[in-house]
Amino acid sequence: MSSPLDQEWPAEDLERVDACPYCGSHERTLAYGDVQDWSFRCAPGKWNYWDCVNCQSLYLDPRPTQMTIGAAYAKYYTHGSAEPVSSLHMMKERLRKECLSQKLNANIEPRLHLSKLLNGVVALIGKRVSVPFGWTSLAGRPKGRFLDVGCGAGLTVALARHLGWDAMGLEIDPAAVREARRSGLNILEGTYAQLTQFEGQFDCIMCSHVLEHVHLPRDLLAKLKVAIKPGGVLLLTLPNALSSMRRHFGANWRGLEAPRHISNPSELRLSQLLSEAGFSIKSITGTGFETAAESYRIQRRGMVLSRHDFTKARQLDMRSLSATAGNDFIKFVCEAEVVAPTGLEVNFALDSGLSVAGLNLGRAKHGFAPTQRGGTRSLLET
Ligand SMILES: [Zn+2]
Repeated sequence: MSSPLDQEWPAEDLERVDACPYCGSHERTLAYGDVQDWSFRCAPGKWNYWDCVNCQSLYLDPRPTQMTIGAAYAKYYTHGSAEPVSSLHMMKERLRKECLSQKLNANIEPRLHLSKLLNGVVALIGKRVSVPFGWTSLAGRPKGRFLDVGCGAGLTVALARHLGWDAMGLEIDPAAVREARRSGLNILEGTYAQLTQFEGQFDCIMCSHVLEHVHLPRDLLAKLKVAIKPGGVLLLTLPNALSSMRRHFGANWRGLEAPRHISNPSELRLSQLLSEAGFSIKSITGTGFETAAESYRIQRRGMVLSRHDFTKARQLDMRSLSATAGNDFIKFVCEAEVVAPTGLEVNFALDSGLSVAGLNLGRAKHGFAPTQRGGTRSLLET
């Protein structure tokens, strides 16, 4: 039987994209031709990614239409797993949750419930357990209504509930929705268009690895702003078009994921768009090598990760790579601005020292350099 990768995406199910989805510029250069679905090996077609000359975002052209993109998600991981899980794997997972429970001062089940006498041992093991993006923020802030947009099987919704949030998820994939609801979670099935029915209702919204999948990313940002309370927090993460891993792996970079990743913005352009949409950026973080092992797998056209992929990823010299390129993933913590009466001055001293409204976003070696401490602007100027 031939691989789906060898088949063509039906021509009538494609649409042309003649302008950058992030800035509208028509100027572009071909970044990669004939990219295939080397991530999940289920979507047919060969795909071209383009670099926007103006804002350095990356986008697919042609791309599947909104009506047909669902065909690219046949084996997508949000579906959850029906595969039998070994008892060793279950023990490891419980140990991981024991470590996360201690790190976040929360009860994340199922865990091991070890004696407090073993706290030191758990803390030691926990140093190697990474906390998923946004979880520290969820643990550390006052609790209220939380929404995970593109929640998949509901992992973060469950965590938020454990932490005391009134948590719900929004998910387009019916199989993932069924999986999440089996755990008793509050999940709404549908697209991000549903966000507008929740005007100003959420204290915190997570939008992790969603923006790169949608046809109208600027529309998604606008709708997130509608659903979030003034002063509420948006947790946003996605691949960075100017990632150091992309520079290293080229067309084999895991951040491409054709054709499901329709576009990846540059970190700077996304910062500008968030500001225009009414968010102020509180922090930008990134370790810079999230996709390394997966990119090695793709490079050898493997189906599953091998120990060798991890070994090579660990050996990668990140310092030389990140000297000229940015975070692998964009990880923003943003606050929805409170709209003040016209004519009043609004102060926004940013935790990170960034001036987003002024777009003074100089980059340091491993991220953004603090370039200006806070700022003041008049709404009459905007
Ligand atoms: Zn652009």
